[in-house]
Amino acid sequence: MLKAYRTEIRPSDEQAVMIHKTIGTCRYVYNLYLQKNKEAYKADSSFLSGYDFSKWLNNEHARREEFAWIKEVPSKAVKQAIMNAETAYKKFFKKLASFPCFKRKSDYGSFYLIGTIHVKRHLIQLPKLGKVRLKEKGYIPSAGVRSATVSREGDRYFVSVLVEEQEACKKKSGPSEGIGIDMGIKMFLYTSDGEHVANVSRSNQLAKLTKSLKHQQRKLARRVKGSANFQKQKVIVQRLHRRIRNIKTDLKRKTVLKIVKKNPQFITIEHLHVKGMMKNRTLSNAFQQIGIGYFTDWLKVKCAECEIELRRVDRFYPSSQICSCCGERKKMLLHVRTYDCEHCGMSLDRDWNASINLKNAKDYTVLV
Ligand SMILES: [Zn+2]
Repeated sequence: MLKAYRTEIRPSDEQAVMIHKTIGTCRYVYNLYLQKNKEAYKADSSFLSGYDFSKWLNNEHARREEFAWIKEVPSKAVKQAIMNAETAYKKFFKKLASFPCFKRKSDYGSFYLIGTIHVKRHLIQLPKLGKVRLKEKGYIPSAGVRSATVSREGDRYFVSVLVEEQEACKKKSGPSEGIGIDMGIKMFLYTSDGEHVANVSRSNQLAKLTKSLKHQQRKLARRVKGSANFQKQKVIVQRLHRRIRNIKTDLKRKTVLKIVKKNPQFITIEHLHVKGMMKNRTLSNAFQQIGIGYFTDWLKVKCAECEIELRRVDRFYPSSQICSCCGERKKMLLHVRTYDCEHCGMSLDRDWNASINLKNAKDYTVLV
């Protein structure tokens, strides 16, 4: 099974220059292939294959002194850029798509590498670039790396590697019972075994970052578009956006992992009618902050990987109105945070009670 790992790298100045150069060359070659095909198409409706283009590029074009720089970057990256261009152009040639876009110069770009790639805890060794420091140590497995894609996002650099892995999750002990997950606004989620995770937007760190983002965005709006100061400010805003996104994503992934690691027999989630909720303005803001869609998607991925059955109850299942102890049912208004059962005397946090009901639900759809 192939698995992708993406993480930030810290290239040296020299390596950063090489990364920029490679991205630039790949863009040039990609565009040149499209240009050549455009000319061939106009002349006699013929098709120039990636293979023929590659031969011409290496044996004629790049031999000329003014284009010698093409040979200075990793050849695999150039080859892949040609292949990408060919794939895009073929779609047009077969009339499946419109003419592909020429790539424009920007702060973003990437290239693909294959060949000798070694990973150690703190560094990754890549063709032509050499040893590049990894920001997150020990994240990428050291064995089985097949290929790597290096990308640039403004002033930051990332590597995404494909790793051949043996079975991802070994069943250690026998599976425990199922888990129900209630997702809400106050608490991001509550599980039937009593775990709860607070909503990230309530964390101090994130509140500070969001405030700072607003401030920096206002500053950006005052800058003259395209000026050097504008560019500098843009990088600051981009960086803040990314930090906020990363914190949120990280929390969701960690939460999913924590639940999956318990190796439950099944996991039951609610059917959240997200689109309907978005119409309700106070609720919608809270839900966008939480990003329940992303959480559910990631949960699906991990459940599939670990062979855990993922269930989703019916949209109208009244998980918050039932007493998880005796089964009595009563109306629960949104602001009432504790479920107090008049019938059996149970008193439990509203969301916790709901998550137990979800676990016990009998009507559900199996998602994974
Ligand atoms: Zn009761």
